[in-house]
Amino acid sequence: MVRVGAHTSIAGGVYNAVEEQVEYSGNCGQIFSHSPQVWQDPNIDDDEAEQFRDLTADHGVGPWVIHSSYLVNLCTPKDDLREKSLDSMQKEVDAAAKLGIEYVNVHLGAHTGAGVDGGLDNAASVLDDLDIPEGVTVLVESDAGSGTKLGGQFEHLATVRERTDQDIEFCLDTAHMFAAGYDLSTPEAVDETLAEFDEVVGFDDLACVHLNDSKHECGTNKDEHAHIGEGHIGEDGMRAFVNHDAIRDVPLVLETPTEDGRSFAWNIERVKELRSE
Ligand SMILES: [Zn+2]
Ligand SMILES: [Zn+2]
Repeated sequence: MVRVGAHTSIAGGVYNAVEEQVEYSGNCGQIFSHSPQVWQDPNIDDDEAEQFRDLTADHGVGPWVIHSSYLVNLCTPKDDLREKSLDSMQKEVDAAAKLGIEYVNVHLGAHTGAGVDGGLDNAASVLDDLDIPEGVTVLVESDAGSGTKLGGQFEHLATVRERTDQDIEFCLDTAHMFAAGYDLSTPEAVDETLAEFDEVVGFDDLACVHLNDSKHECGTNKDEHAHIGEGHIGEDGMRAFVNHDAIRDVPLVLETPTEDGRSFAWNIERVKELRSE
């Protein structure tokens, strides 16, 4: 059975993310542990955490991913931002352990002048300083690669893995890859792009996919998600991607928009249709 779910909301209590997931017929998913636009600590009490774990087990949902704050910048050369990023990531991995969540997903961030090599060094160093609880794995997400943001190239992911002592794994975001210049719009392009990922990074460390279509063309570095099959990746590309041998057992988490009368439920259904074809 295909593992597909959505990024759901913890508003009103973290366990609500499970109820929402089940409403959409999702069986895996992602949450923010707090508002991702501000520096804030996850505030999850023991009862809430227990309810989340119980509901997750009852409904057979999993794996779950915590997406870290958008303010986190692992590549930064600035000491204060590095410290805040490290502190925030430590709290995310601790929250994950408390919730029984396997993965914490993070973007590498922007090197803002440190250079690609320096930025990747900085990222590896922050990861090294994390005390990651047992059962939790940090996933570095592929990026759309705008400005000085790293993670747009598969080589960046492989280099951080090489330089850190932590056992990190990866999350590929289809909209980001596409924006970063990896074509996914035809079956041939999907084969080529995934073969390149296999060569540079390898599928053993691919833990999760953020499945999103793209509102912008390939190589534009613009990150705006579209409904599955309705963007520039399109139906043929999406069908080839979700049915690719290397992807079939990887959990798919949707970060699609809720607009045009289409919600996560519509997109999850769409993925299941594409998969069964
Ligand atoms: Zn992300
Ligand atoms: Zn993503």
